[in-house]
Formats: sequence, structure tokens, C-alpha cells
Amino acid sequence: MLGEIYKITQDDLYELLKRLARNHKIIGPVKKGSRVIFDYADKVSEVLVDYDKRILLPPKKFFLPPREVLFEYEILENDVIIRDRLGEISREKRVLIGVKSCDITSIEILKKTFDRHFKDPYVLTRIKNTVIIGVMCRDVSPTCFCYQAGSGPLPRTGCDLFLTRLSDDYLIEVKSEQGQRILNNNKDLLKTASSEDIQIRNRIIDELIERMKRNNLPELAEAYDSLVSSYESELWNMYAEKCLACGKCNFVCPTCHCFDVHDEVSLDFRYGARIREWDSCHFLSFTRVASGEIFRKDRSSRIKQRIYHKLVYSVNDIGVISCVGCGRCVEVCPASIDIREVIRKFVRR
Ligand code: SF4
Ligand code: SF4
Repeated sequence: MLGEIYKITQDDLYELLKRLARNHKIIGPVKKGSRVIFDYADKVSEVLVDYDKRILLPPKKFFLPPREVLFEYEILENDVIIRDRLGEISREKRVLIGVKSCDITSIEILKKTFDRHFKDPYVLTRIKNTVIIGVMCRDVSPTCFCYQAGSGPLPRTGCDLFLTRLSDDYLIEVKSEQGQRILNNNKDLLKTASSEDIQIRNRIIDELIERMKRNNLPELAEAYDSLVSSYESELWNMYAEKCLACGKCNFVCPTCHCFDVHDEVSLDFRYGARIREWDSCHFLSFTRVASGEIFRKDRSSRIKQRIYHKLVYSVNDIGVISCVGCGRCVEVCPASIDIREVIRKFVRR
């Protein structure tokens, strides 16, 4: 049943992963040199299931890769052959484990974004074919604000199973029918969770929320009206003077999804590939059109675009804000531009 919570030992959790690995590729936090990143795991034992903090680079790349060949084509004398990559993508079943609540919500946002009037089969197929196993954070980084963004510390939806680390065991919560099916097939690994276990979990959630409340940040959903009425504010010029238009904030953001599409063609024009690559609304080239006109020449209009897209346009387009409060953009910005400070400045409380 959805919402049901069981208990599983760490060894049995890895056994569950081993069983899933028989017909899925496993993606999770793995150590690469001195860093932990989301990557395909060669062996289940490599996966650091409850890595305590959210990882700097989000799992977005497994749904919307930084660069991907959508299809290749070959022009024959009287025909054109198209080799679409979608078939390959459809065959790949994956488990993504170790995802924190902010990133789970970001995958939901990607799904809503790519499933509107135009349905992107590449992104949507990857999401559909991925079992998502989330895990509760054990620590809050100074830049986290998932609570105010409404994306955490416990996700409402967007994953199949959700883990909470107790001292030696995990609680495992059913979050979807797919998650239920997985547990039904592996009942031998599960134990009953006691009411004390659930209380411990609830205390962990309360503590995480308490720590984030110290941010003194309004709920992000409240920013809509204030931003709409502040479009001409002088403050945007101040941010424009600081911003280097490097695009780092876009590239680490789990919900930024703008891309460019171009063809790479052989010199004899007989072969080609259609490529999709991440782009950034901070780049001058982003709004350059065929005639050479650039619609967002001023840096202030570009920084405004990112903030308005997150907190206003996204609400208009998909019904939710598209900032999940992961704090990654705050962490990487070389000009110390902090989206929380922008919100505090504009939202009248
Ligand atoms: S990371 Fe900072 S400096 Fe770079 S584009 Fe984003 S806001 Fe501007
Ligand atoms: S805008 Fe910043 S804090 Fe919000 S989801 Fe993107 S990277 Fe995270």
C-alpha cells in the first residue's frame, strides 16, 4: 500500500539492489577520486546509498544528457535512412538510488516540462524507464532551502521507494505502485517497522526543517506577486553588474533544461547527426535568432530571465515553481549571487 513503511537491514538493501541489477543498470552516488558523483555503478557495492549531503552535480544528466545524438541520417540516391536513438533508450531499464528529496522533485519538474504540448520522447522515456529510490538527507548544507521551496526534506511524489537511515537499518517507504511491486517481490528481505522507528524518522524530518527555518527565507511560492510587480526594479541592474554571465548556475541546476539543437554533417553532405546540447539563458548567444538579432542583450534581462523562469513563468507553464532549493547555484556562483538574497530583497513580508 502507498505510504506503507518497512524496515530493511543494510545488507538486505544491497541484496535488493543486487536483485534489481539483474535486469536494470544501477546509478547512484559513487566515489570518483576524492569526489562523490552520480554515476553508473559497475558493482552494487560501489554505491554509497546514504551519502549524507546532496551531491554537487544533480542526476539531471541521466535524463537530459549535456550532449546527445538524437538521431543520425544517411542520404542515399533515392532514399534517406534515419537511425533514431530512441529504440536504444527504450531498451535501457535503470535504477537511480540515493536521490535526495530536492532532486526527486526536480525530476518531477523535468517530467512536467517535457510533457506539455510537445512531448519529448527521449527525456520522458528515460524517466519512465527509471526506478527512483530516494533517501532522506542526514545533513543540511548551509545553502539548502528545500523546505521553503516545498520540495523536501520528504518528497510528496516522484520516487518509487524512499529510504531513511536509522542506526544500522533503513526504513523503506512505498511511494508508488512500482515501488510496491518491487517490495512484494522481495518480501523475504523486509521486516516490520515499529512505531518507535517511525518516531525516529519523524524527528529526523523535524530537525532538518528546524535547521532550514533558520534561513529566514519566505516560502518561494510567495515570491510570484512580488516579482511580477518588480520587473522594472533598479535592483536588477545591480545584479547585472555583478553577474559574469558564465552560466555555471544553469549547468548545476537540477531543473534548468534549455538546450540548443544543431546538425553535424559530413563534408559530402551524405551523413549527419542531430545533436542536442545544454544551453544557458545567461549566454548572449541564447536569444540570437537567424537574422542576427539578440533579444536579451542586457545582462540584467538575462539574470531576470533565470529568476522569473524559476518563480513566475514556470508557475504559468507547468503549475509549480521550478526552484527546488538545492542551493547549488549559490554554491558555484563566482560572483556570489545568491537566489535566496534575491528573494529576500523582493518578497515583502
Ligand atoms: S553563476 Fe553567477 S556569475 Fe555565473 S551566470 Fe550564474 S549568476 Fe551570473
Ligand atoms: S535555482 Fe539554484 S537553488 Fe533553485 S533548483 Fe536551481 S540550482 Fe537549485
